Amino acid sequence: MEDKIIEGYWDCDYCEKKAIKGHLRECPSCGKARGENTEFYLLDRTYLDDEAAEKVSMNPDWLCSYCEQLNSDFDNKCKSCGAPKQESKENYFEMRAREDENDIDQNRSYQQFETSNSRTNQTTPPKPGKFKSFCIVFAILLLICWPIFSYDQSTGPKTVKVTGFEWNKTLEIEQYQTVDDNDWSLPEKARLIDTKREIYSYDQKFDHYETIKKKVPYQEVAGYHYVTSTTNLGNGHFKETRRKVTDYKTVYKTESYKEAVYIDVPVYKKKYYYVINKWIPIRNIESSGKNQKDYIGKYTLAKATKKSGIGKEREGMLEEHYFIKTIDKKDNYIKYEVSVDDWKTIKLNESIKIKDNGDGYATVVKEDKPKKEDKFKKEEKPKKENKSNKEDKPKKEDKSKK
Ligand SMILES: [Zn+2]
Ligand SMILES: [Zn+2]
Repeated sequence: MEDKIIEGYWDCDYCEKKAIKGHLRECPSCGKARGENTEFYLLDRTYLDDEAAEKVSMNPDWLCSYCEQLNSDFDNKCKSCGAPKQESKENYFEMRAREDENDIDQNRSYQQFETSNSRTNQTTPPKPGKFKSFCIVFAILLLICWPIFSYDQSTGPKTVKVTGFEWNKTLEIEQYQTVDDNDWSLPEKARLIDTKREIYSYDQKFDHYETIKKKVPYQEVAGYHYVTSTTNLGNGHFKETRRKVTDYKTVYKTESYKEAVYIDVPVYKKKYYYVINKWIPIRNIESSGKNQKDYIGKYTLAKATKKSGIGKEREGMLEEHYFIKTIDKKDNYIKYEVSVDDWKTIKLNESIKIKDNGDGYATVVKEDKPKKEDKFKKEEKPKKENKSNKEDKPKKEDKSKK
């Protein structure tokens, strides 16, 4: 048997005698039976022998509902007044729970009194804490909102004044030539020179199994220890239970398993080596300027040297870039690349609204409100009328478009 019985103690509520042995129902000093305020406790761990232990009930005492005395579970009638056990409303634990609840209620009112006292003494400390949390909340809000602010600045339309223009063009000149080339198929009009078998791709092929060793953890019994718990029986005695607990330790075992190993196997295919007549880019015609007058530089195209057309030149791809130099309200000088259509309609010293697309590229935002446009034009007019009359023409066109 792992369970052992310990005799507890109780105090007489009537004559205040302390440490009365648990098996005694009546106070040895005043003779009063233990009742409503009785509480059993442990002082030492003296175990009852097996014979005495067997006589101890495993059930709590019951409280007589007439004289409020505690009786053993073995007794069916109250030892003090003879009232029957069946009419009892509470056992020892139910009685204690009620008593403890009363104690808690008393403690609560005491604690409330204490805290109300301390509040009057400490009025300032909560303030720094509140200020700190306010700062943290503000910092978090700033962090969340900052990307939104900066996003607006970079993508929202902004007004800039045009201070200059730039442009550059690269025209590719191609020549019809006979060149060596190769491919996995032979193109039409190509003259075959040679064929070779070459690696086209790789296939994964199973080669062999490899044994791989791995350390696997598992739990092994290392020993035992005992856990002791004590239960109040509610009748002047306590039960001590010893429980055996298994201790484990982690050990590693080497396990081996097989893993498939694959190798790359080349796939060969026939490759064609041939000569073919093709247009090949051979030179560039570069043109650029820092004005609004774009052009492509002069060039002459060579003529064919053979009947087949070999040696003939032609225009290839044309790459062109158009830029505006601007100054914004904060006096920042920024160069933007714009579309050719925007570039051609923008005028020097004009205030325009642009949308910065990032990567140095911008698009001109066309105004919906005619009032604002008129204001800009009135300001610009005197300057331009002095310079030339040519610039008035596109203005009239703009008005008719809108
Ligand atoms: Zn007493
Ligand atoms: Zn009674």
